[in-house]
Amino acid sequence: MDKAHGSLTRRQFVNTMTIGPLATVSFYGTSVYGKAGKKATILALKGGQPVRTRPWPSWPIWDKNHDEELVIEVLRSGVWSRNKIVEEFESQYANLIGAKRCIGTTNGTNALLTALHCLDVGIGDEVLVTPYTFVATIQVIFLSGALPIMVDPDPETFQINPDKMEEKISEDTKAILPVHILGLPAHMDRINTIAGKHNLAVVEDACQAWLAEWKGKKCGTLGDLGCFSFQNSKNLPCGEGGAIVGNDDKLMDRCYSYHDFGRGYGDIGQVEGTGFRIMGNKCRMAEYQAAILLAQMKRLEQQTQTRNENAEYLTSRIKDIPGIIPCRLYEGVTRAAYHLYPFRYKKEYFNNISRGRFIAALRAEGIPCSSGYNRVNKNAFFENALRSKNFRKAYPAKKLDRCRQLNSCPDGDQLCDEAVWLFHSLLLGTKRDMDDIADAIEKIYENRESLA
Ligand SMILES: *Cc1c(COP(=O)(O)O)cnc(C)c1O
Repeated sequence: MDKAHGSLTRRQFVNTMTIGPLATVSFYGTSVYGKAGKKATILALKGGQPVRTRPWPSWPIWDKNHDEELVIEVLRSGVWSRNKIVEEFESQYANLIGAKRCIGTTNGTNALLTALHCLDVGIGDEVLVTPYTFVATIQVIFLSGALPIMVDPDPETFQINPDKMEEKISEDTKAILPVHILGLPAHMDRINTIAGKHNLAVVEDACQAWLAEWKGKKCGTLGDLGCFSFQNSKNLPCGEGGAIVGNDDKLMDRCYSYHDFGRGYGDIGQVEGTGFRIMGNKCRMAEYQAAILLAQMKRLEQQTQTRNENAEYLTSRIKDIPGIIPCRLYEGVTRAAYHLYPFRYKKEYFNNISRGRFIAALRAEGIPCSSGYNRVNKNAFFENALRSKNFRKAYPAKKLDRCRQLNSCPDGDQLCDEAVWLFHSLLLGTKRDMDDIADAIEKIYENRESLA
């Protein structure tokens, strides 16, 4: 969890979002990249005035006057375990996402684990997944006893590349776990076509994609089951929390039962409370989690709108800066969530200044940013899982070797080397805030010689 943002831990990264007001005010105006006569300036990293000195919106947002009432009511009721408030949340969230049903969970990781288990993914199976994701996406595949098979992402979109999927399918492939990474939708038409052709289940990791849409339908409703996270840093936060959404009643009954110790529920046990029917886990959402979410949900639509408008404007401002490549959205994307705003940095255009130095320069200009994921698939857990007693008992050596050998994704590595991320709360400000970001990048570009 802590290594989610490369060299910074998630907590440190979130903390850098709020920059206190500084004593000096910068008058670095709107830049005209490429036009002659631009005044030479000194980069903040070299002791010059930063482009940005005002603070950025902090995260999470909490309205003292409106958001606390229900939480206090829950606290004073003494009913803290799953009950009416969770049910209310589930009903509202299903409605918001356009799914028939929703089950609240402890967190996104357990939502994914429940979904995989209830779609019968387990020992002997392979699951296709992108390495350009948060570690939880890969861990849940191992936890379910299956082997994660890495499929390179498309560097232009940052999403799992459908062109590279079929070559990794074997007779043991059971499911695809597409991630709408950074809150930008994966190519769900092509993923579903491949899944249909090979009879694979599709679990969407929509843990960064609240209200994102593919052709007018919300992410999380495009596969068999969709999973969400409401962790503190997420666009819809409650500290820790998650949800599974789906339209298939039998499957959702199974998920419900599994998330409640395997207790009979709906199709699983006919009547509620008839005992423990299936192998189960315990990952129920608590009442206070739901109470926080019900308050946070009220602003999600407006915030999503603002993030999209600002992202679009920011892209228009930076797309012509040499060496800065904004992320491309697929044509089927009708809305993004922008949990993060990514672009790629090509150092060849910046006097070969390393990305690390570029990021330091951008931060010095008052723009919080990060280098993003760091070859998650090459972290020690992957090899350790393959070498574990359980996996060596469950799989022939050649199956483990196949998983190991396919864990090579040059396009994913390239993204890890080139990405620059802006955290979603930066997109909650004004157009002028976006101008500050673009101005800072332009300023670094124009003064790149001074960083050599
Ligand atoms: C946050 C996240 C998860 C895990 O969610 P938690 O609520 O932290 O357990 C899984 N996948 C992705 C892509 C995430 O961003």
